[in-house]
Amino acid sequence: MQEESLDRCRRRLQSIPGVLCAFHSVIDGWVRLTPERLRALLDSAGVDVRALLDAPVPEEVRTVEDLLCGLLHSLTQGKALQRVIRDEAAHRWLLENLHYDRLRLGGTSANMAAAISALGVPRVVTYAHPLTHELAALFPMRDNLFVLTPEGAAHPREAARAEGLFALHWIIEYDGGLSLIYQGVELKAPRANRFIPAWNPINNQLRLNPELVQSAIAQARSFSHLMLSGYHLLSERYPDGSDFRPSVDETGSFVKGLRKANPNLRVHLECASMASASLRRYVEETIVPLVHSLGCNEVELAGLVEALGGAPPSQDILREDPVAILRGALRVAETTGVPRIHVHTLGYYLCLSADERVSWEQIQESLCFAAALAAARAQARELTDDNWAAGLDIAPSFAGQTAQRVLDPILQNRAEKVSQGVWKSGKHWIVIEPTRVVPQPKLTVGLGDTISAAAFLTGA
Ligand code: ADP
Repeated sequence: MQEESLDRCRRRLQSIPGVLCAFHSVIDGWVRLTPERLRALLDSAGVDVRALLDAPVPEEVRTVEDLLCGLLHSLTQGKALQRVIRDEAAHRWLLENLHYDRLRLGGTSANMAAAISALGVPRVVTYAHPLTHELAALFPMRDNLFVLTPEGAAHPREAARAEGLFALHWIIEYDGGLSLIYQGVELKAPRANRFIPAWNPINNQLRLNPELVQSAIAQARSFSHLMLSGYHLLSERYPDGSDFRPSVDETGSFVKGLRKANPNLRVHLECASMASASLRRYVEETIVPLVHSLGCNEVELAGLVEALGGAPPSQDILREDPVAILRGALRVAETTGVPRIHVHTLGYYLCLSADERVSWEQIQESLCFAAALAAARAQARELTDDNWAAGLDIAPSFAGQTAQRVLDPILQNRAEKVSQGVWKSGKHWIVIEPTRVVPQPKLTVGLGDTISAAAFLTGA
């Protein structure tokens, strides 16, 4: 990719009127797991490591065993995994036995807002509720970055009201190659990734603040794009007997209200990992039909396909096999009718688009742009307005180039090939583009959010 192509994408971002990111901004407690820290955790919990690896990953974390079960599964597969912590004792145990190295701004909405405001989108507004001084202080200070307020929008530090750490999402990152023999079992991470147990009792039902909802609808015409996320915070059931449906319905009414107030609004849903299959299914039935675009990683795609029933969760999708990823994405697109799906994996991005207004060249360019940004952020920890082009120094992934070739024979009789890694199949463009992988990333959490936001805003 040439610098001029990067510049074109950058200019496209700078010509966007306004973006609203809702509903998930939170404080992350970030910690790097080392073999010594892992050993200390396992010693302190006194668990049977083999039994935990043989057990399925629980849908929610209620005990220290659940916590370590999730961590060991994520680590030994090198796969991102997120689970909600339901019992404060498990959260407290982490505070006492691991603690965090630092607090950072997190949550899909805030991650996206931080990335795209650094790239010069003129007006980025984030839903952050409750907005404590501690959370507000973590937002970068930029003229174009705001939070939603009952009166409109304001800079986070001006809008903050409450005090305290009301929630903490643990980001337990490990390096590829981390290795420990424990109770005779080899615990080895095949690649860098992280486990995210989230303690967020205040937002675990995703009840929207009515004043903020009204405010967003009143200013709907100032937004050209809505980036939607947060469903992974929900549970299948709550202690009061209720379930996720009222919360999902409420967000659906919000999207409908915004789209009615601004029929030109383009909506992207970022699908973080939802543990419950019935929640995934319900989101697919009620929210996905309201959006123009869906973004996910391979674990989330496998979950979406599984929730549709029929085929079992595909190990091939989890292995990032491009044929399985393409089939999975087509299945979701055909069942839900969503016009665009963007799947990001470590080696490549695959985008399906049935949007007639967008050329394949623009889609391809947007994916290349996202890959350069992801590499820049993985190297530098955060994007700033002058470090994003450095990603071009990282070579395109070899696995991604192989993935482009693997699809050739599969699509030979079913699609028209228009360029390397680009096909037209029925109403869909299929575009597959290699990533740029940083060998020792400083931070991986939030990279998918950056990738999805950049590719959607410049290529949809
Ligand atoms: P999050 O939910 O934290 O935003 P995801 O799991 O959705 O993250 O996405 C992570 C993505 O980041 C991967 O699919 C891959 O494309 C990209 N990525 C991960 N590690 C690296 C790396 N070392 N260098 C470049 N890109 C990376």
